Amino acid sequence: MDALRKLSVRYRYVIAGILAGTVSLTLWWTSLLAPVEDALSSMRADLLSRPASGEVVVVEIDSRSIHRYGEWPWPRSRHAELVERLTEAEASIIGFDIDFSARSHAGDEAFAEAIAKSGRVVLPIFYQRASGRGDEREAIVNRPLPMFDAWVGAVNIYPDADGIVRDYPAATHLEGQIQPSLATVVAENSEWGDRIFHPDWAIDPQSLPQYSFAQIVDGTIDPSLLKGKRIFVGGTAIELGDRYAVPRHGVIPGVLVQALAADSLVQGRAIVSTGAAATIAGIVLIILVFAPRRRTRTGILAVKALVALAMLLGVPVLVQSQWPIAIQSASWLVALTLCVSLQLAVHIRDEIEHRARTDPYSGLPNRKALEETLSDEPDCQVLVAASIERFEKIRNNLGLKASSEALIEVAQRISDVTETQVFRIAPDVIAWSEDMDVFALTGRRLQELQHRFREPVGSCNGPTDIQLVFGFDSGRRTDAPVLRIERALSAIASARESGQQASGYAGENRSARRQMTMMSDLRLAMAEGRVSVVYQPKLLTRTKRLDSAEALIRWRNRDGKMVPPDEFIPLAEQTGAITEVTLYAFRRVLDDLAEWDRSGVEMSASINISAVDLGHEGFASLLGSALGNGRISPARLTLEITESALIRSATTVTENLEALRALGFRLSIDDYGTGQSTLSYLQQLPVDELKIDKSFIQAIEEKSSSVLVKSTIDMAHGLELEVVAEGVEDARTLSLLSRWGCDYVQGHHIGKPMPPEALARLVVDQRKTNAA
Ligand code: C2E
Ligand code: CA
Ligand code: CA
Repeated sequence: MDALRKLSVRYRYVIAGILAGTVSLTLWWTSLLAPVEDALSSMRADLLSRPASGEVVVVEIDSRSIHRYGEWPWPRSRHAELVERLTEAEASIIGFDIDFSARSHAGDEAFAEAIAKSGRVVLPIFYQRASGRGDEREAIVNRPLPMFDAWVGAVNIYPDADGIVRDYPAATHLEGQIQPSLATVVAENSEWGDRIFHPDWAIDPQSLPQYSFAQIVDGTIDPSLLKGKRIFVGGTAIELGDRYAVPRHGVIPGVLVQALAADSLVQGRAIVSTGAAATIAGIVLIILVFAPRRRTRTGILAVKALVALAMLLGVPVLVQSQWPIAIQSASWLVALTLCVSLQLAVHIRDEIEHRARTDPYSGLPNRKALEETLSDEPDCQVLVAASIERFEKIRNNLGLKASSEALIEVAQRISDVTETQVFRIAPDVIAWSEDMDVFALTGRRLQELQHRFREPVGSCNGPTDIQLVFGFDSGRRTDAPVLRIERALSAIASARESGQQASGYAGENRSARRQMTMMSDLRLAMAEGRVSVVYQPKLLTRTKRLDSAEALIRWRNRDGKMVPPDEFIPLAEQTGAITEVTLYAFRRVLDDLAEWDRSGVEMSASINISAVDLGHEGFASLLGSALGNGRISPARLTLEITESALIRSATTVTENLEALRALGFRLSIDDYGTGQSTLSYLQQLPVDELKIDKSFIQAIEEKSSSVLVKSTIDMAHGLELEVVAEGVEDARTLSLLSRWGCDYVQGHHIGKPMPPEALARLVVDQRKTNAA
């Protein structure tokens, strides 16, 4: 489920990338980007503005010339005159952008003669529709009169949909034939075939050498200016019409369009646009670099985007300044813009999400963040919430700013102890999850935390004392995070109600809840000294002396009732609290032995050790260090370990046993007979004593039991082990056991478990009687 979610998040970015690519490609494909492309190309033309070559010269039929001859149209003898002048001046070629397809009232012959004599005249050919609405089949081709023996060049110009002329056909198809255009013919350039190019609109039309028709005919122009030049003759007077809107230069006469096209060819500046391949490749590249990603820093993105933008705008200018290539970059700009916008949208969304998960006052992650964390890692054992007591009051005293500071300090101290992320889930509540059991939490952890808050918390308005109340939830980990948070919060409330420092929810199950309360109570009882140790004497049958006793733990409840060990020891084992109990009993025994020593009662003692203790690495050294400075010799201490614990002899157990033995403790197998240990197995264990379980002793009258007890005593002696019989309740049993050679007996018949002082008295009394 989680993997799927992550995958879909990843997928989202891929989709965004593909989307950006598709949109830019589609816009380009459908020519919707043409206006942008055109704007970019005029921008480039502006930037790269350059002069005309000077080789192409325009002879204008300007208003000055019309004025000069006082009539229009002119007889063609005037054109004949012009051709003669230009030919005399050795112009290289003379292209007319004037219609000569119909006969005129005068001078046709003179013109035909001039053309023939010159041999370098080009006349226009073009088609036009027969009527205003006709289709192309009705087009009429206008060609020069047959009597004019000139070259021909097509002069059709095709404005774009917006009426602006941007490109120029190198040739036009007329009546099934390819007819080179006027500019191509005049520029004498046949490289272009019937392709279309963009005249270089960077060439300033004003820089084309331009002379008035009349001036040339009148001979007022120095003929050397015309020598070898390519001449265009055409109307520039407004009254003649024939004007076109072009990029950058506004509306200009058709003859200038022709001249600019020819000049572009002459300068090698007939420009071609990059095609689909370049456009697609560029888009793909941009998408690869800029497609939205999960973690991109805004700063880096901005720099990258600016660099890319500069490149997309600059490189086409540079390229076009060097080569006649127009790089179509509009779709790339769109792709870049889309990618950057999508990435920003991602950032904004992330930011919004981040804010939704952050507490604005403390900057700590909030309750929503905790919910997410809990559902992401459902392994959290205990959810703990700590509420600051009297928070309202603190806030009123300190003010908002200082109380926020104090809160941050509180959170910091908590996370110093817990080493986890903490969350602010309510104005006064910091919560976090713990990977420990409830006992460890209520014991160690809460103590550590209390300790950490002994010193007041600082703020800009001075220090303030902080007290925490804890609520925790150790219920089912799979429960909804919201539920778990609610339970921890309501545990805080119930802790407050009952005046406790902490309270918790352990699950729906009542016994679980009881157990949990029990463990925290036990901890408290140990701290308050309500847990004590009583001693049951052991009689050495050989001497009839009481020289040893078994320590048994007792827990007095708050209301004075005794909780039997059988009830809380297994629970302490389950919750991991047992080792604290064992150590507690161990220390008490050391104290009592020392106290007995002082009153002249020399005794040994047995202490019960749990299987769980032995499972902890380092348990032996724990006991070793508790032993301290040698007040009590470990040889006086017997550690009772149940047979069942020994059977599950994991390596740690064996290691602990070896280590305890090495420390000098005596080891005893408790409840012997209830497990299934075999003789050979027992032989390998480093034990000193065998303690026959009371169930056999109490059934000693039965044949099976008596056989077992007797044989066990013999067998143990064979292994050089001492034998203890527990649960001896009558004199007959005692005498049987003595007869069979049992070393020690223990039971109600000898003495019930009793407080240390009572035991000391008993021993003194008994020794007096013995001596008497
Ligand atoms: P255990 O080690 O087998 O202790 C002997 C139990 O038998 C004691 O019960 C004792 O009071 C009882 N007993 C003694 N003589 C007689 C008798 O003549 N007749 C009968 N019917 N019972 C007798 P207690 O004190 O309730 O302890 C129960 C168990 O709790 C112990 O069994 C031991 O396993 C555990 N325990 C007691 N103290 C500690 C301790 O400090 N640490 C650990 N780990 N376990 C302890
Ligand atoms: Ca025992
Ligand atoms: Ca026992």
